[in-house]
Amino acid sequence: MSCLFCKIVEGTIPSRKVYEDEHVLAFHDIAPQAPVHILVIPKQHFAALNDAQPEHIELLGRIQLAAQHVAKEAGIAESGYRVVTNNGPDAGQVVFHIHYHVLGGEKLATLGGKE
Ligand code: AMP
Ligand code: ZN
Repeated sequence: MSCLFCKIVEGTIPSRKVYEDEHVLAFHDIAPQAPVHILVIPKQHFAALNDAQPEHIELLGRIQLAAQHVAKEAGIAESGYRVVTNNGPDAGQVVFHIHYHVLGGEKLATLGGKE
């Protein structure tokens, strides 16, 4: 299995885990873009939101609740946070195992900025 995040799920690549259950894993991003930057991933591999199917509906809901959970644990549930998934080149996706960024701990830049 060559997928980086599958290796993190397997434990062959280390991560700073913050939450895990049967279906979902959450860990600190290695290059944080905000004071709190956690990634939430399904343990089941699929590449991106483009590949989500109706059979993934429950899993996608579990990811949302895991994002809420890690935000509470990180102490940013009240101050606010953003949950975002990058899909494809224009969004800058570099890891092709679907993941949701949980960002917070400071006032975040408004959406829609261009490089
Ligand atoms: P994306 O651009 O949405 O594909 O984001 C991929 C994210 O994965 C980036 O924010 C990277 O910093 C993060 N990342 C890459 N490798 C690792 C790793 N080994 N552990 C934790 N986060 C990682
Ligand atoms: Zn994977």
